[in-house]
Amino acid sequence: MKKLIEVTNVYKTFGIKGAADATVLEDINLSVREGEFLAILGPSGSGKSTLLRIIAGLIPASTGTISYLGQAITGVNPGVAMVFQSFALFPWLNVLENVMLGLEAKHISEADKREKALRIIDIIGLDGFENAYPKELSGGMRQRVGIGRALVSDPDVLLMDEPFSALDVLTAENLRRDLLELWLERKIPTKAIILVTHGIEEAVYMADRAVILSTGPAKIVQDITIDMPRWRDKKAFEFTNMVD
Ligand code: ADP
Ligand code: MG
Repeated sequence: MKKLIEVTNVYKTFGIKGAADATVLEDINLSVREGEFLAILGPSGSGKSTLLRIIAGLIPASTGTISYLGQAITGVNPGVAMVFQSFALFPWLNVLENVMLGLEAKHISEADKREKALRIIDIIGLDGFENAYPKELSGGMRQRVGIGRALVSDPDVLLMDEPFSALDVLTAENLRRDLLELWLERKIPTKAIILVTHGIEEAVYMADRAVILSTGPAKIVQDITIDMPRWRDKKAFEFTNMVD
């Protein structure tokens, strides 16, 4: 399958005032292909968010390159969109407006933006909540808005930084199941997903492959295939009747 993202020899060092520079990432090499659901696992503080931000082009690597479709990127990666742990919604904008923000950089008409946003709102299970404001929504629904805002731009790769960790257990389980179902049934317009998590069970449940980071500085110590499709498909639907 086509290689979408390639991370080559990436190092990241943060200069800290009054202290020695801290190397957070050391020689990270990683590629993500079409059809892959990759989990990046590691303990808290190991550099997972830093790596994801570098892949998104939100912060630069100290050395090394990030390529999208074989082209080294400088600045924001045009092939990805990101979902944040804390949702990062604008409280003064309603659901529709928050989702439409994902299309800000696209040169299409307001009407087209609206239409695309409404379609994604329906897919992610927020039909009827277009005009609601974030404060009127549960945590799970807010994160659905965050996912919608990322998906609305049709990114090749969806980047998710611990997207379920701010949610209570059942809400998180529901959202994992729904997202996995949409992905497995090809209902969301993305060709690969990178999920950052510190939960091994979450990685095994959702992903086809996991890379594991060690700490201080982070290196990839394992790159494993999670080859349990039957178990995963069963798992994907077993919560269906539990809560909703
Ligand atoms: P994780 O997401 O795995 O919890 P992070 O990528 O957030 O880890 O952070 C990895 C390490 O890099 C931490 O020690 C953190 O303090 C440090 N770090 C992250 N961002 C910065 C920054 N802007 N300046 C200095 N240190 C940072
Ligand atoms: Mg993090």
